[in-house]
Amino acid sequence: MSHLFESGWRRSASWLTLSVGLLAGCATPAVAPEAEGPDPVTVAAVEEPLVDAESIAVEPIAVEPEIVTPSPEAEIPAGVAPGTLVTRHGDEIMVAGQLFRTGTPVVLWVDEGGYDGYRVERRFSSASRADWTSSVEDNPALESPNRYGMRGAVLTATERERVRGGGWDLATLQRVVDQFVLHYDVSGTSARCFERLHDQRGLSIHFMLDVDGTIYQTIDLKERAWHATFANSRSIGIEIANIGAYPPARANPLEEWYARDETGRTALTIPKAAYPESVRAAEFSGRPIRDDLQCGSINGDEFYQYDFTHEQYAALIKLTATLCTVFPNLACDYPRDAEGQLRTDTLSREEWKAFQGVLGHFHLQTNKVDPGPAMQWDRVIGGARALLPEAAID
Ligand SMILES: [Zn+2]
Repeated sequence: MSHLFESGWRRSASWLTLSVGLLAGCATPAVAPEAEGPDPVTVAAVEEPLVDAESIAVEPIAVEPEIVTPSPEAEIPAGVAPGTLVTRHGDEIMVAGQLFRTGTPVVLWVDEGGYDGYRVERRFSSASRADWTSSVEDNPALESPNRYGMRGAVLTATERERVRGGGWDLATLQRVVDQFVLHYDVSGTSARCFERLHDQRGLSIHFMLDVDGTIYQTIDLKERAWHATFANSRSIGIEIANIGAYPPARANPLEEWYARDETGRTALTIPKAAYPESVRAAEFSGRPIRDDLQCGSINGDEFYQYDFTHEQYAALIKLTATLCTVFPNLACDYPRDAEGQLRTDTLSREEWKAFQGVLGHFHLQTNKVDPGPAMQWDRVIGGARALLPEAAID
């Protein structure tokens, strides 16, 4: 798979050539990069009735995996002093109300500095205009105070009735979730991503992965986030901070976002509008893990993109390993062609239905390119597999 992304052209390309936009040698693309999150067309189709026709085809898994659901009540020892603090470690994600450790920093929506996908208010408007009524006046594109829904399409009627009030049992969620969708955010930072998704577009995502490797979880994984249209009911989504991939000979923001520093290496130069001060790591100075602009093909068209940061890969590997451990039906693998290489095209609907594992947004929709040609799938999947218990790997 990596041969596509490591062409001799790219390895030999000079920064000067790239910086002046002379991207010779690439085919004229027909597919536009993702425009700031899911496109408006997808929004209306995202959350219809609880049972949507698109995703109802996803049958509940026939053979239920053996899962032991923690029972909080059963573990309360006698004599616990009321008011005892339960210490968290700062690396937990929340799955149906249960906390699972990832081994990498996670900021939950309830944490200081977190992004709360449950809130009706806008996060980045003026405080006096943040309420829902003012938000709709300012932004008529907002259709619902809720930016997420229920994973109804993959449940029986009885199960839907049981969880509609909010509480899921872990085993049911483990049965229905079997895909992890990778996006890039075209926003560059998680703060800007949340502003666009939540405040401006009325959408949601379970995780955001900032340039410094901080994972933000914005809603419990029991919720149906609105990030991947027909795949929402069975999937978990992550928006990875990256300004995106672009076709050749087209205006792009890459020069604004990346520059050679005094050491000759490529550094991130986050513009003011993307809230560089929001990056959580103190005095963070980010670099794409590979200095050169990457070139690769998605659905047969060429795109250019800077790679993700070392910190993002490290965090994504641990999160992927966590999810593949917590969700037995989520295989630690990506879509492969007959030769076992990464598929760089969109799956047919039948292939998508049969697939259980990690996939890119472009695997779902022909009009998407994310997470882009720079994504090193083997780095992520190989790294995650190395962290899994042996029994979890086929
Ligand atoms: Zn996407």
